[in-house]
Amino acid sequence: MVVSDTFARPLRNLRLSVTDRCNLRCQYCMPERDYAWLPRKDILDFEEVSALVDVFAQLGVDKVRLTGGEPLVRRDLAELVRLIAAKPAIRDLAMTTNGVLLAEQAPALKTAGLRRVTVSLDTLNAGRFRELTRFDDHPKVLSGIEAAARAGFESVKIDTVVIRGVNDDELVALLAFGKSAGAEVRFIEYMDVGGATRWSRDRVVSRADMLGTLARHYGPIEPVSETTSAPAERFRLSDGTVFGIIASTTAPFCRSCDRSRLTADGLWYLCLYAPNGTDLRGPLRAGASREGLRGLIESTWRARSDRGAEERLGMRNRSPLVPLTTLKGDPHLEMHTRGG
Ligand code: SF4
Repeated sequence: MVVSDTFARPLRNLRLSVTDRCNLRCQYCMPERDYAWLPRKDILDFEEVSALVDVFAQLGVDKVRLTGGEPLVRRDLAELVRLIAAKPAIRDLAMTTNGVLLAEQAPALKTAGLRRVTVSLDTLNAGRFRELTRFDDHPKVLSGIEAAARAGFESVKIDTVVIRGVNDDELVALLAFGKSAGAEVRFIEYMDVGGATRWSRDRVVSRADMLGTLARHYGPIEPVSETTSAPAERFRLSDGTVFGIIASTTAPFCRSCDRSRLTADGLWYLCLYAPNGTDLRGPLRAGASREGLRGLIESTWRARSDRGAEERLGMRNRSPLVPLTTLKGDPHLEMHTRGG
C-alpha cells in the first residue's frame, strides 16, 4: 500500500531518531552550553519503535535511517538494527553518525543487518574539528570511517556541512580523502533549522559556488543523471569520482520529499521545518490497536502539505528559523531531537 500526501508524495522514508543526546557540540547544530533533554521515561524502547515501524511499513515505508542526536550513544543500538533488519518490508536500513563511536560498533552493526552508513565529517584538520565540535575526537572519526569501510557495508558516505569562512577551503581535500577512504562525499549547504542559531545567509556556500571551486581544481564536472527522491544531486569528475551536493538552502527539493521523522520520544514530524509533530507515543502506550495507529498515520500523511525549505526560499530577511529563547522552551524544535 502506498499513501500519498496532497502533493502526491508517497510515505516512503522514515528517519528514526533514537536519542536526542550527542557526544559532540557542532556549531551549526548544538552551539549552546546547556540543553533541555527529553525525559527518559518518554523515550521509546526498542519494542515500541519496532511496533511503530511495522505500522509505517504497512503504509509504504521501505527505507529507514537511524539518526539522533548521535545514534551510537543509544545503548545496544545493534539490537534495534536487528529488529528492523528482520522486517521484509524494510529494504534499506541506514544510519547517520558522527563516527566517534563507530570503530568499536561497526562490525556488530553490520552483523545485525545495517546496510549503509553515513558519517559526518566537516574538516580534515584536527584543530578545526575541535573548534567546530568542542571535542578532540577527530582521530576517532577517521578510525570510524576506516572501520566502516572494512566492515563491508553496502555504502559508506561522508556528509560535510559547508560553512563560509569555516571549512569552505577544504572541498578539494575532502573529496580526495573520500576517494582514498572508499566513501562518497556529499557537501551540504548550511541550513537555518533547529539549533543553527548562528546561521546567516552570507555564511551559506551555494551549490553553484561549490561546483565552481571544484571545477577550478578538477576541471569539467558532469551531472550524474538519475531519478530518485534522495536529497543529493550527484556529480562526476573526469577521473570518475562521484560526489553529491545537497542544496537544501538554495535549491530545495521539497517536491519529491518522501521523508518524515520520528523523535526518540515518539513525535512524528512531516518536515524538518514543521513547528509541530503528531504524538504517536501517547496512543501506543495507551494500547491503541495497529489499525488505530495506521489510521492516524495515514490520515496525517494524506493531509500533508509541508514544503518548509521552499517556503523559506523567497524570504527577504531570512534568519534562523527559531530564536534561541523559543528553542530553549521546546527541545522538539532542535535538529538534534528531530534527526536533521
Ligand atoms: S524542507 Fe521539509 S518538505 Fe522540504 S525537503 Fe526538507 S523535510 Fe522535505
